[in-house]
Amino acid sequence: MLSTMQDAPLLTSRILEHGRRIHGKSQVITWTGAPEPDRRSFAEIGDRAAQLANALRDELGVDGDQRVATLMWNNAEHVEAYLAIPSMGAVLHTLNLRLPAEQLVWIANHAADGVVIVNGSLLPLLAPLLPHLPTVEHVVVSGPGDRSLLDGVDSRAQVHEYEELIAGRPTTFDWPELDERTAAAMCYTSGTTGDPKGVVFSHRSVYLHSMQVSMAESMSLTDRDTTLVVVPQFHVNAWGIPHATFMTGVNMLMPDRFLQPAPLAEMIEKERPTHAAAVPTIWHGLLAEVTANPRDLSSMRMVTIGGSSCPPALMEAYDKIGVRLCHAWGMTETSPLGTMAHPPAGLTPEEEWSYRVTQGRFPAGVEARVVGPGGDVLPWDGESAGELEVRGPWIAAAYFGGVDAEPVRPADKFSEDGWLKTGDVGVISADGYLTLTDRVKDVIKSGGEWISSIALENALMAHPEVVEAAVVAVPDQKWGERPLATVVLAEGASVDYAALRAFLGESLASWQLPERWVLVPEVPKTNIGKFDKRAIRRQYADGELEVTKL
Ligand code: ADP
Repeated sequence: MLSTMQDAPLLTSRILEHGRRIHGKSQVITWTGAPEPDRRSFAEIGDRAAQLANALRDELGVDGDQRVATLMWNNAEHVEAYLAIPSMGAVLHTLNLRLPAEQLVWIANHAADGVVIVNGSLLPLLAPLLPHLPTVEHVVVSGPGDRSLLDGVDSRAQVHEYEELIAGRPTTFDWPELDERTAAAMCYTSGTTGDPKGVVFSHRSVYLHSMQVSMAESMSLTDRDTTLVVVPQFHVNAWGIPHATFMTGVNMLMPDRFLQPAPLAEMIEKERPTHAAAVPTIWHGLLAEVTANPRDLSSMRMVTIGGSSCPPALMEAYDKIGVRLCHAWGMTETSPLGTMAHPPAGLTPEEEWSYRVTQGRFPAGVEARVVGPGGDVLPWDGESAGELEVRGPWIAAAYFGGVDAEPVRPADKFSEDGWLKTGDVGVISADGYLTLTDRVKDVIKSGGEWISSIALENALMAHPEVVEAAVVAVPDQKWGERPLATVVLAEGASVDYAALRAFLGESLASWQLPERWVLVPEVPKTNIGKFDKRAIRRQYADGELEVTKL
């Protein structure tokens, strides 16, 4: 029997129109470096998004599913692009400005981007790439920056000023009634594991994911909140926040290019956001900043932290200053919200702790299973470790194969029965909480046992004199692989590896303890601030590290 319900497609245009009308007074506040930030209401953003869509169609000829790329910081214009581009039926392609030039070129060509909207401050990055981007016909420049960098560049692209382009155009647009399964936005994985892979989000997945982000069991945000969106809009759609906020009227505080700890601390004190979202590196930096120069962070009710494992010691340090970090797991392929670590009800703070340090529990929209090395599905017993696989309406089923090509489904990323293989190794507890112990490529395979690099890192970073620690597998004649610990010490601390090893021995088995140690000034990071373990393994292989063996 069929239902008797209406079948309204889940479209970003509905999110746009809802936000501008129902939450018209909510604001996007963009930090500009000037004494006063730029404040723009959702009503104005909605008007300007419609103007942008009209300009893209009438002036630049975007009339189908062309890719309109953004090379932008988190700011009001980028939110306008987020709403306008998919709603008009085009595909929003957020370019990651931290990628090496050749990868950016590869990605923009693979997606065949026709238009690039760029912040003026990023023209030094874009201008030298343009001669290598034959599909780009239009460049739209927004915000301060030296336009002359585009003079004489060997490219057929026409250059436009964002404000001039949209000025005077109608503030309404007849948004097309699209199939909700068509492409709304695309994002390439950062390529830390091979060529970048394009994930294409549908209107339906964006809509459903936005609802999940807003739920109390996820970020729990309403129009009484202001969220500081540090996670870049070019990184998995800023974890879905810009679309979710337009659904519920959450104010957004956008840091633009002011991502250093000092301005972040200043904007928190002045604008008093109730929530923020960023990777652990940002919170490390901010903690050091406010320890040296105290600031009032008391407005922050909750922080969503993810993208890489949050060391429990960092969570504790923020607990002490009254800021609660809530751990989340996800990846580009999962839109990205996969889990969030809210403890179950009815526990004491001590009991809650063991849940807070997990990656969190799965929402109804994300089904999960753990698959052992032999391909068998393992029980949810909190002990059986295997590769995490997930499926659901905002989880990728394939990668973009290129224009006019079929999507690709590599066997190491998608199971035959349609699950996404995450490449993460972990366990799931009986009550559905995920604890990641490693990535498939980072786990240390020592004498037939697996040693978790993340467990070693977290234990090391709990030592008062260790600021950062990264552990990688290195080849070992006897055991196959053994852990190599690289540590960054606190200022003034002197190194005593035997003492560090003994400290680890308090919480870990002796066969898991590293015998190879290296002191480093800092842990190499990928362009989005994750530990770059590939770089560490390469430095080790090339003999660049001064290793002490105990
Ligand atoms: P890439 O795989 O190129 O780094 P993503 O940004 O999609 O791109 O990263 C997703 C990966 O980040 C996950 O598969 C996982 O390994 C890691 N990750 C994300 N959140 C967490 C977390 N809370 N704890 C541990 N690892 C995490």
